[in-house]
Amino acid sequence: MKKSIRIRLLPTQEQELLMLKSIGCSRFTYNWALNKCNELYQQGIKYNMSDVRKEFTQLKKQDDFKWLNEVSNTTMVESMRSLDKAFKSFFKKIGKYPKFKSKRKLRQSFYVRYDRLHFKNNICNIEKIGKVKFKTNYKIPNCKYSNPYCSFDGKYWYLSFGVEVEENQTTLNKNLSIGIDLGISNLAIVNCLDKPIKNINKTKRVKRLNKRLKRLQRQISRKYEANKQGNKFVKTNNIIKLEKQIKSLHRKLSNIRLNHTHQTTNKIIKLYPYRIVMEDLNISGMMKNKYLSKAIQEQCFYEFIRQMKYKCEFNGIEFIQVDRFYPSSKTCSCCGQIKSDLKLKDRIYVCDNCGFEIDRDKNASINLGNYGLV
Ligand SMILES: [Zn+2]
Repeated sequence: MKKSIRIRLLPTQEQELLMLKSIGCSRFTYNWALNKCNELYQQGIKYNMSDVRKEFTQLKKQDDFKWLNEVSNTTMVESMRSLDKAFKSFFKKIGKYPKFKSKRKLRQSFYVRYDRLHFKNNICNIEKIGKVKFKTNYKIPNCKYSNPYCSFDGKYWYLSFGVEVEENQTTLNKNLSIGIDLGISNLAIVNCLDKPIKNINKTKRVKRLNKRLKRLQRQISRKYEANKQGNKFVKTNNIIKLEKQIKSLHRKLSNIRLNHTHQTTNKIIKLYPYRIVMEDLNISGMMKNKYLSKAIQEQCFYEFIRQMKYKCEFNGIEFIQVDRFYPSSKTCSCCGQIKSDLKLKDRIYVCDNCGFEIDRDKNASINLGNYGLV
């Protein structure tokens, strides 16, 4: 199976400049090719990407466009390929008509030539960028690397790529079926763990960061209003500075959340159950609830489920998502009686049949763990 690896790069200033150039050239190529396709379309001709590419090669030979030769050709070829992909999904009615990439909204990344990518000790060789230092806990296998690309998150540089690995041959506990109930007040309740997994957003650290974020956002909106000229917003140096601070706070918060999700899913996987059962939550439906949407977004449910899925696959653990109409909360985990009048505010489940008393979410997680077992 394929596993994707992301490592942190430690480029020198010179290398960083080249990498920023690569991002710029990648964007230029995309927009240039899109413009070409649009022109052809207006003449009633459907584009042919290999013709567009040939024309691009000619463009690079012109004196005005010599700068395009400073970055890897692969970066630009892949950029055109991704445009081709976007067009294809548009013709299949899956995607929208490709748009020009704006400098502001651009995802900061560029493709790297895979057959020139080598790792040696803590140095990796990237075509046209050079020998870049990196930091990682992974042992990078010596093999073919698929889809390598560099990205920048506003502070750090990363290199991501796929490697082919064998499935982990771990012995799984044949008697352990784990049920996980995701929640708002706690992140998750696991049937076989005594303590619930905490909601990272309720920790002091995150609360403090959130508070600071809110304060900055208020500040910046005040400054925007104050510097408004007619209908136009003017960016002062102060606003730019504040925007930078806000961006870095967002980045920090999302890293803390992502880290917590990874730690949690790893902790559960390390119990090596033979299967993991979760509810198939209607997340997009829940997001429509204005009281819940922020909490759900901050808890990263999508990400949690995504990680759980691939980590299960990697370890050969069966991953089951139960239909959302399965009465995991309403069933008594002791005798199996279904309590149909259970309300959302009832935090303790009391069974009318056998008198069993248990925390509501714990009860749900036990029921999920027992799903389909007799
Ligand atoms: Zn009962």
